[in-house]
Amino acid sequence: MSKIAFLGLGNMGLGMATNLTRAGHTVVGFDPSPAAAEKAKAHGIAFADSAVAASEDSDVIITMLPSGKHVLDVYADLVPAARAGTLFLDCSTIDVADARAAAELAVAAGHSAVDAPVSGGTVGADGGTLTFMVGGPADAVDQAATFLDAMGSRIVRCGDAGAGQAAKICNNMILGISMIAVSEAFALGAKLGLTDQALFDVSSTASGQCWALTTNCPVPGPVPTSPANRDYAGGFGSALMLKDLRLAQAAATDNGVDTSLGRRATELYEQFVAQDGPGRDFSAIVTAIRSGAFD
Ligand code: NAD
Repeated sequence: MSKIAFLGLGNMGLGMATNLTRAGHTVVGFDPSPAAAEKAKAHGIAFADSAVAASEDSDVIITMLPSGKHVLDVYADLVPAARAGTLFLDCSTIDVADARAAAELAVAAGHSAVDAPVSGGTVGADGGTLTFMVGGPADAVDQAATFLDAMGSRIVRCGDAGAGQAAKICNNMILGISMIAVSEAFALGAKLGLTDQALFDVSSTASGQCWALTTNCPVPGPVPTSPANRDYAGGFGSALMLKDLRLAQAAATDNGVDTSLGRRATELYEQFVAQDGPGRDFSAIVTAIRSGAFD
């Protein structure tokens, strides 16, 4: 069993750290937020006074942080202080360029580095059923597998450093665009006299079929488990969708790729989050599309 420093015990990190503890690892956490610290202690996670103190003598340093800047700042402090050969495992969703810079920093100092952003949300984090999209050299990914297995149910190696982040933002760009497409179809269908159920019955088994329609259906009724049936509570918050769309657009600009629909989806989610707030499931965008709320 290994000694793990877990940095970032927020909505996702707390459940992930708890699952590592359950798997028998010695986990020491740190988070500067007093509320996160309180919650972590209540969950029985050993808690240190600083990231450096949490990382002392660790075999693995796991980060689950809000942004690339947070990850790079933490790496700047911990990479020189960590003992040689430490595994740096970043599970945050961050910019591809930042992920590559973080991995280079760690590897140049004699450590291993893996980026492993997740899908599955807080339900997956608490239940240990996350999917990890993983980037890094094969030997480092093999080293990370034991820890990823304790926190998730699926690991997909996508390539070298940054490839996990690349897969995450490309997938979520598809998701953001397809949720808008499905929502526009429901808005148009209703104006043409179609019931939501009739459109669903056709498209869910025809060429318009996609996850945004058949699992996370944005209108209440056709898929009883979708967030639309509980006023869009829970699920994947609109602000997180906006974050991922912005990361995809930043990567598209850096790499000279024209993603016109990704750009438009980003604009629409920017307007939607400003109007509706950050927290409701991203499928609530259908309400703004139906009410003609966009420029
Ligand atoms: P969160 O804001 O709840 O948690 C992040 C935590 O990091 C906070 O508690 C914050 O205090 C802490 N933190 C900030 N600086 C720190 C530092 N220097 N050292 C230690 N801790 C520090 O966010 P979250 O929802 O847990 O998301 C974490 C990451 O996972 C993000 O990158 C997010 O995009 C990604 N993600 C979230 C979800 C989701 O459903 N919430 C799903 C997939 C991916």
